[in-house]
Amino acid sequence: MKLVFATHNENKFNEVKELLPEYIELLSLTDLDCHEDIPETAETLEGNAKIKADYVTKNYGLPCFADDTGLLVDALNGAPGAYSARYAGEQKNASDNMTKLLSELKGIENRSARFQTSIVLNLNKESIFFQGIVEGKITAYETGEQGFGYDPIFQPKGYQKTFGELPLKIKNQISHRGRAIQKLVAYLQQYRSN
Ligand code: IMP
Repeated sequence: MKLVFATHNENKFNEVKELLPEYIELLSLTDLDCHEDIPETAETLEGNAKIKADYVTKNYGLPCFADDTGLLVDALNGAPGAYSARYAGEQKNASDNMTKLLSELKGIENRSARFQTSIVLNLNKESIFFQGIVEGKITAYETGEQGFGYDPIFQPKGYQKTFGELPLKIKNQISHRGRAIQKLVAYLQQYRSN
């Protein structure tokens, strides 16, 4: 079956593609020749994921899912949360976002944080929600070249390395997005023969 993942982010697209079975033909927004930067105007991750999935359903009429991720830092009362992408400004720059977060946490001992991903699947006129969470902590400085976004400063619980250092295979097994996608895949099993 053809399934659109409503993202322009090549890193995310490749992460997710790794996790999907072969019977799903995954298409990105670029594959649809859609270059729109769909505005994420909701205050929740679920709300933003739904806006993106609904945009594709409305304009392309194809089965589609979208995700939205937030980094929730305990010492900052859950910030940056739904505002993680534009934490340091509308330029949505990963390096600026990490610099701002490390500066906000300077001198703070409690570094615990979690990534949370919400996914909305629009299929057969229904919207189905999935969620994945990974617990961890914010490191004191950036390490590693893998991944994207806040990966170089997020160390998942039980590991001595950041997502920026861990191979994609490991990140996908334990990450927020990996966990949410595993639930999506289990749900899609029923469409295997389509
Ligand atoms: P969005 O889901 O693409 O809107 O992501 C929101 C923010 O979280 C952006 O700043 C992303 O770079 C960041 N982000 C999303 N997923 C990940 C991840 O797997 N690792 C690190 N940062 C991420």
